[in-house]
Amino acid sequence: MRKIKKLAPNEAQKIAAGEVVERPANVLKELLENAIDAQSSKITVYIKNGGKELLRVVDNGCGMSPEDAQLCFEQHATSKIAHVNELTSITTFGFRGEALASIAAVSKTTLITKEADSEQGTKIEIEANKIIKNAIVHANTGTDITITDLFYNVPARQKFLKTKETEWRQIQQLFFAFCIAHTHIDFKLYSEDKLFHNCPQVETIEGRIPQLFESTVAQHIRSVHHTHKQVTITGVISNHQFERYDRNMIYLFVNQRWVKDTTLSRAFIKGYHQVLPPGRYPAGCIFISVDPQEVDINIHPRKEEVQFLHPRSVQQAITNTVTQALEQHLSQQLHKTVRFRPSIPLEKPQPYVQTPNVNKPAANFNPFNFDQFLKKDSEKDDDEPCELHKHSPTDQQNIPQLNLQQTVRQSITPAVPEQEYMIVGQYNRTYLLLEQEDGLLMIDQHAAHERILYERFCAQHGNMPTIKLMFPQMITLTAHDLQTITEHVNLFAQYGIELEPFGTNTLKVQATPIQLKHAPMNEIIKDAIGYIHEYKELDQETFDQTMQKKLYADMACKAAVKAGDVLIQEQMKQLITDLYSTDKRFSCPHGRPTSWLLHHDEIKKKFKRDYRKQDQK
Ligand code: ADP
Ligand code: MG
Repeated sequence: MRKIKKLAPNEAQKIAAGEVVERPANVLKELLENAIDAQSSKITVYIKNGGKELLRVVDNGCGMSPEDAQLCFEQHATSKIAHVNELTSITTFGFRGEALASIAAVSKTTLITKEADSEQGTKIEIEANKIIKNAIVHANTGTDITITDLFYNVPARQKFLKTKETEWRQIQQLFFAFCIAHTHIDFKLYSEDKLFHNCPQVETIEGRIPQLFESTVAQHIRSVHHTHKQVTITGVISNHQFERYDRNMIYLFVNQRWVKDTTLSRAFIKGYHQVLPPGRYPAGCIFISVDPQEVDINIHPRKEEVQFLHPRSVQQAITNTVTQALEQHLSQQLHKTVRFRPSIPLEKPQPYVQTPNVNKPAANFNPFNFDQFLKKDSEKDDDEPCELHKHSPTDQQNIPQLNLQQTVRQSITPAVPEQEYMIVGQYNRTYLLLEQEDGLLMIDQHAAHERILYERFCAQHGNMPTIKLMFPQMITLTAHDLQTITEHVNLFAQYGIELEPFGTNTLKVQATPIQLKHAPMNEIIKDAIGYIHEYKELDQETFDQTMQKKLYADMACKAAVKAGDVLIQEQMKQLITDLYSTDKRFSCPHGRPTSWLLHHDEIKKKFKRDYRKQDQK
C-alpha cells in the first residue's frame, strides 16, 4: 500500500514558513529588511500583544506597482536576484523571495502600496496565501503592510509563542539592531498605540546610543576603528567601567546584517577578559566588514548566522579591536603626568587598628628607583655579596625626607598633559586611594606592583641585575625534577636565577634578581618545573616565550607588595609614579585590573546630589 502522500501546496507552504517565521520578531525582521531594501528613510512599526495580534510596518520607500503587489506573495518572487550566481555579490537583505509568501501563509495580511510616480495605490488582502481582496486605493508613496493573527491557521505553532512580554522583548531587541545599523533612517516603535522608541535620523552610531539606551551607557562608550588584514571593525564599545549581567547589549553586524553568532560574541567578550570579572558582560555595537566573497550569509534560514572563509582572523580582529581600544582608553586615563598635591600630612600611616607592623614600610617594596643600586653580575664583588642589604631601602632611616610639596615629575615622561593628584591614603591596607580631576582612583597595590615588576623583568631579560646570596637557598627536589631543571640552568640564568645542582636531590640557588632577595625561591622553582613539564612539547621559540611570560609573572607576584602590607606615603608615591610610567599599566600580568576609577558623577549619584541645586553644601 502506498504510504507516501504529496502534501497539498498550501500545507507545504505552511511548513516551509516555519523555517523563516517562528515568532513575531522574525516577521518584523523580514518586513524591516524589505522596507530598507526599498530605500526608505522613515519606518514606523506598530505592535499589539507582543506582535501576536498585530504587526504593522509603514515605510516611505519605493513602493510596488499593482502587478508587483500581487506577485510579491508568490513563492520565490523577488526583485533582487534573477540567478543563483548573483548571490555572492548582492547588497540587499532579501534575495530568496520567500519571506512574504511564508508570512502570508500563516497569517492574515493586508498590503497597501504605491510607487512615487503613480496616482493611486493598491490594496491587497490575503488570508492563508489566498488573495481575498484587490483594490485601487488612495495611498502615500511607500508600503504599509499589516500582519494580524499570526499562526491563526497553524495551532501547533501558535502554542509555542511565548508570553506577550517575551515576544515584545525580542521585538525591541530586533528594532534596536535595525536602529543601530541604519542611523540614516528615522525609526519609530509603537506598542498598544503608545510610542516606545523614537529615533530620528542621526549622523553617527554615537548619536544613536542615547536614543536607545539609558544615559550610563552613553557615558561609558568609546568609538573603535580597526583594520586587520581584510577585516574592518568599526562601532562603539563599552569601557572597563561598564558591566552587565547578560549579553543583551552586544550587537554584532556583518556587512550591515545583524547576526547572533556566538563565536563572534565570544571573541568580543574575550577582549574584556582583563577588565571584567567572569559572569559580567560588556556592551557594544560592532560592525564587521569583509569582502562579500569571504562570507556566506546563506547558511541560516533566517540569515542570523554567517560562515566566514577565515573565521579565526575575523575573531582575532574583534578581540584585538577591543583590547587595543581598552588599553588606549585606560592609558588616557592614567597617562597624565603625575604630580602630587600635598594632602593631610601623613608621614606615617595611621591605620584604624594598630597592628605590630604598622609603622614599618612593606619589607619587599623598594621605595627608591632600584636601578641606582644595581650592579651587574660581572661588576659584583664577591667579598661583598650582600652589599645591597646594607643599603636596604626598607630601613626607615633610609627613606628620603621628601618635601611633600615637591613634585615628583622628574622620573616620568614629560610632555603629556599634566594633572594633579592627591593621595588620599591607603584603604584596607590593599588599595591606594587617589583623588584626581574626574573622580576617585583606586589602585590595587599588589596588582600594580606586579605589573611594574613584570615589565621591568621583561625589559631586563638576559641582563638582569642580580644579587649573590650570602647563604644560598637549598631546595629539595625529586631526582627527576632536579634532572629537568638542570637541563635548563642556562635558561634560568637569563632570568637572573643562578642555580647549581647539589647531590642527587638538592638544588642550590646562588643568586636571584635583586627584587627577589626575600622571595620564596622554592615556590618559584617548583612552579617553574611545572611550567617546563607543561610546555616542553612546544617548539623552542614558543617554549621560551611562554616560559618567560609565566616565570616573570610568577616572580613579579612573589616579589610584589601584598595586600595587607602597610605602605608609607613615600612608598605610595613611588608605586604610583612607577605605575604611571609603565606600559600596559591597567592590568596585572594575570589580567586583574590594577586601578579603578570611581567617577565623580557616580559618587554624586550615590549621594543623590544634584549639582544644579545650590543649597546642597
Ligand atoms: P525578498 O526580499 O527576498 O526579495 P520578499 O518575499 O521579502 O523577498 O519580498 C518579495 C518582493 O516584494 C521583494 O523582492 C520586493 O520586490 C517586494 N517588496 C516587499 N516588501 C517591499 C517594500 N516594503 N517595499 C517595496 N517592495 C517590497
Ligand atoms: Mg525580503
